[in-house]
Formats: sequence, C-alpha cells, structure tokens
Amino acid sequence: MMTRRRFTSLSALAIGSTQLRAQTTPDKPVNYAAVGLGTISDIFMQACAASKTSRVTALVTGHPDTKGRKFAAQYGIPESSIYTYETFDRIRDNKQVDAVYIGLPNSMHCDFTVRAARAGKHVLCEKPMAISSAECRQMIAACSAADRRLMIAYRIQYDPTWAAAAAILRAGDLGRVESFYGGWYTQMPVGQWRLTRALGGGGSLMDIGIYPLNAIRFLARTAGLPEPTSFTAQVATTDHDSGRFNEVEQSVNWTMKWPSGVLASCGSSYGQRGPGSLEVHAEKGWLRLDPAFYYDGAHLTGEIRSGASIRKIDVPMTGKPPFQFTLEADHFSDCIRQNHAPASPGEDGLNDLLAMESIYKAAGTPIA
Ligand code: NAD
Repeated sequence: MMTRRRFTSLSALAIGSTQLRAQTTPDKPVNYAAVGLGTISDIFMQACAASKTSRVTALVTGHPDTKGRKFAAQYGIPESSIYTYETFDRIRDNKQVDAVYIGLPNSMHCDFTVRAARAGKHVLCEKPMAISSAECRQMIAACSAADRRLMIAYRIQYDPTWAAAAAILRAGDLGRVESFYGGWYTQMPVGQWRLTRALGGGGSLMDIGIYPLNAIRFLARTAGLPEPTSFTAQVATTDHDSGRFNEVEQSVNWTMKWPSGVLASCGSSYGQRGPGSLEVHAEKGWLRLDPAFYYDGAHLTGEIRSGASIRKIDVPMTGKPPFQFTLEADHFSDCIRQNHAPASPGEDGLNDLLAMESIYKAAGTPIA
C-alpha cells in the first residue's frame, strides 16, 4: 500500500522531472546543444542560424576556452552554456536546451546519445548512428525509456531533389524497380580519426559507403520494397605504403538483394577519386542522381517510356549549402514541437548498421 509520505515524495519527483525539462511548444524554436565542434557541427550551427525553428544555445567541446568561446561569441551563447565532455551531464539542468546535435567521431555517438537521453534531451545524431547494431539498440532503448525523440542526420532524405525522385518511385511511374547502383569515392588523408578502427568503426563503408546504402534503402522503401536480405562483398587495399589502411579497409564493393529479386550494386573507397552517384533502373525507365551526395545538393535526370513517347526528367539542384542541414534540423524541430516521429529515426540508423555488419561479414572482415 502506498503511504502518504511515499506518495508525496513520488509526486515531488515527478514534478521535479517535468520542471527540469524545457517545455517545447509548436510556436517556440527548438534549442540545441552542439556536441563536438568540428567540421559538421560548424555547418550545423550555420544551418540553425538560417532556420526559424532551430537554434544553438549550448556547446559541448574538449576546447572550451578556444573553440567554445569562439562559437559562443559568434552565436550569442552565454559562457555558462559551454560544457566539456566531462561536464556534459550537467546539461540536464539547462532549460535552454531541448535537444542535442551529436557531431562527434562515430564511436562516441552511443555514449553521448545515452547520456543526452538520460539528461532529458532529444537527440539528432550524425551518421553512422554508431559502430555496431548493439550500440544502436542501446541508443533506441535509452531514448525510448526517457520518452525522447531520436533522429539520424541523413540529410539527403530532406533534400527537395531527392524528394522528387522518391515521389516518382512512390507514384509507380517507373513500373517495377529492377536494380540500383550507387557509390561514393574519395581520398582520405593520413592522420584522420576516420582511419582508426577505434573511432571510425570501419573504413570507407562506415563513412561514405553509408550514403548510397541509406539512399538506396530510402528509395527502395518509397517503391514499396522491404529491407534487403542477402549480401555479397569484397574489401580491398592497394595502398600498402602510406599507412592509411593499417586498421580499416580502403575500398569495398558490395551487392544487396531483396526477396523479390531486386538487386543493388554499390561501392565506396577512401583511396580513389570518383563521383558520388546513384541510379535506379526499372521496367519503364531510369533515374540518375549525379552528383548525389554533396552539400550543394543533387541533380536528378532520367526518362520514362510509355509506348513511343519518352518523358524526360531533369530536376536541378536546389538551395545553397547548408540548406540540406537547415531542412534536416527544421524537420527534427517540427517532430519535437508537434510530437511526431522523424522520417529518419533510430531504426533507420540501426538498419544501416545491420546491413553494414552483413556486408563486412560477407567480405570476411566482420566487425569485432
Ligand atoms: P571532425 O574531425 O571535423 O570533428 C570531430 C569533432 O569531435 C572535433 O570537434 C573533435 O575535437 C571532437 N572529438 C572529440 N573527441 C575526439 C577524438 N577522440 N578524436 C577526434 N575528434 C574528437 O569530424 P566531422 O567531419 O565533423 O565528423 C563528425 C561526425 O559527423 C562523424 O560521425 C561523421 O560521420 C559525421 N559527418 C556527417 C556528415 C553529413 O553530411 N551528414 C558530413 C561529415 C561528417
């Protein structure tokens, strides 16, 4: 039986925990703490500066006196809202923070997501969601237990040109989808944390291969397909001299197959120059996104045949960087303000990790 004393103390706890949470309402911007002040957080902060619904009100950094102060001055953030990785948990007492944006190396995403959820904050986490599916499950569970929203920052899903490609697939204009092709290739310089297994979790697949992987899964979903179920893969390294690939793969080529027989053929590399592009091949036509994954947007071309007539598709790149990041932040802020699920939730990040684990396993280099 509950005594009066226990009831009173439980009520006080409940009231206390609601008071600690900033109240988000549909007409109020969502306040973010940027965690890790590197390249992508810098872009995210610029994106919020251009947004009506998202703003950065706190910073979390290993360099509070330099980078912290610099960005605080730039965005009008009080010094009392600069945290270090060690003092991060105190963010629970900051009512000027509704959500955190995690722009840290991949292996740190899980820890900071779980801590943010426990501090009562919603989480917008960079890709890849984490470095294993087990970590992704922990992150989903922590946000669910704290009743907080979790979104993975797959910015192309919020780009209007990609939305145009998705709309064509959703409408069924291409007929039956038969196959996808996608890849992204770059040179990764010596010294990058991305080349260490402990921080990156893997090589080019985890960092840039995830773009064609996620984009193909996104388009496949809009075409009514479930998740791919069968994988083949090979990893390879040709650069044995620079020391870049002592811990992670240089290149990976993989295929995915859906139960209905739809195929995808993909690649990524940290040791060669090549475009970031994606194609959909279907019964009545095709779509091509090239460039597909850059910050300045995507260019969509294609054609759809109907008898003797051919409908040409040409959707130009829209917006100016960092517009994709503003659209992404606005989407998550709307989810928080209007209490609905994001389009790229934690489960989307988990499905990418499950696919990447299958790809590494098929290549004979499973994630430990
Ligand atoms: P970055 O190296 O520019 O920044 C990383 C930040 O983490 C720095 O502020 C650094 O000081 C901090 N950090 C804390 N502990 C660290 C450690 N042990 N080693 C290295 N840095 C440490 O990296 P980035 O390019 O901003 O990438 C950060 C995350 O964002 C990654 O998960 C990456 O995959 C993702 N990302 C996403 C996009 C996108 O378009 N969505 C683009 C680039 C990067």
